[in-house]
Amino acid sequence: MSATIRRIIYPGTFDPITNGHVDVVYRATQLFDEVLLAIAADSTKKPLFDLEERRAMAEEALARFGPKVRVTTFRGLLVDFVQSQDSRAILRGLRAVSDFEFEFQMALMNRKLNDSIETLFLMPRGAYTYLSSTIIKEIGRLGGDVSAFVPTVVQEAMRQKYQPVPK
Ligand code: ADP
Repeated sequence: MSATIRRIIYPGTFDPITNGHVDVVYRATQLFDEVLLAIAADSTKKPLFDLEERRAMAEEALARFGPKVRVTTFRGLLVDFVQSQDSRAILRGLRAVSDFEFEFQMALMNRKLNDSIETLFLMPRGAYTYLSSTIIKEIGRLGGDVSAFVPTVVQEAMRQKYQPVPK
């Protein structure tokens, strides 16, 4: 890592980005010079939004943070990507105990793969602890109102995705 810039990488699927993710990014901006939100192209999940849609939504949702926060996509091993970005830190969000086991396993595996990279966890504010992209998609699919949980750009994209097909 450069002597002056402290950069943390926030990897995930972000399908779509929610207010919980944005809150975690905000908290990280208070601690790091730069936050790079990195959308995984190789996710084993089958996303609703394609990579480009997810990138565009995240960029718009995070634009208010200015140049301190950037969005990119990546392929391959996360630790290799983190190193290629001159960073030594991975950011993950922890909502509840249910997140812990998987996150703990990932963090220790990433450490095994590259011992110079640390994983840091931040908790979102309480109101976002029950938020997940999966739940948001389910509400959207059933025609519910997601405006309290996602940035406006996502709300609009969800509306388009789930628009009833005209008969
Ligand atoms: P994954 O990377 O497991 O596919 P996501 O893209 O949904 O998951 O999320 C990326 C990271 O953000 C994960 O560490 C996840 O635990 C965290 N996260 C997801 N939703 C929230 C939320 N509401 N509050 C805080 N962190 C969250």
